[in-house]
Amino acid sequence: MAKTFKFDIITPDGLVFSDEVESLRAPGTNGGFGVLADHAPFMTTTTVGPVEAASKGKHRHFATSGGFVEVLQNSVTLLAETCEPAEDIDVERAEAAVKRARERLKSPSPEVDIIRARLALQRALNRVSVAKFV
Ligand code: ATP
Repeated sequence: MAKTFKFDIITPDGLVFSDEVESLRAPGTNGGFGVLADHAPFMTTTTVGPVEAASKGKHRHFATSGGFVEVLQNSVTLLAETCEPAEDIDVERAEAAVKRARERLKSPSPEVDIIRARLALQRALNRVSVAKFV
C-alpha cells in the first residue's frame, strides 16, 4: 500500500479539503510541483492553476487562484485565496467571467485595469478547465 500524508486546503471561507493522500500536484509560482510522502520540508507561493490530490486510484481536482503551500513532515497545507473542488465550480459563472474579461481586454480604456482583467481571465479559464474533470 502506498504511503500517505495529510493534505489540507484552507481558504478565507474555511476548510475545503482535509484527507490522507498519496500524492498531490499544485501550481507553484516557479512551475508546477508534486509531493509524495516523506518529502523534504519546504514552502512556496502558488499561482492560478489546477490542484490534484490522488489516493487509492481516486483523483480529486480543484481550481485555485493562488496562495502558498507549506510542506512539513507528512503534512501539507495549501492556504489559498480561493480554491474550488471541480464539482463545485459554476461553469456558467466562469464562462461569463471569461467573456467579461475578454471584452475588457479587447477594448482597453483608461477605466480598464488590464492586469486585473488578465488575472480574472486566468482564474476563469482555469475554472472552466478544472470543471471538465467532473
Ligand atoms: P467572478 O467575477 O465570477 O466573481 P472572480 O474570479 O472575480 O469571479 P474570485 O474573486 O476569484 O472570483 O472568487 C470569489 C469567490 O467566489 C470565491 O469564494 C470563489 O471560490 C468563488 N467563485 C468564483 N468563481 C466561481 C465559480 N465559477 N464557481 C464557484 N465558485 C466561484
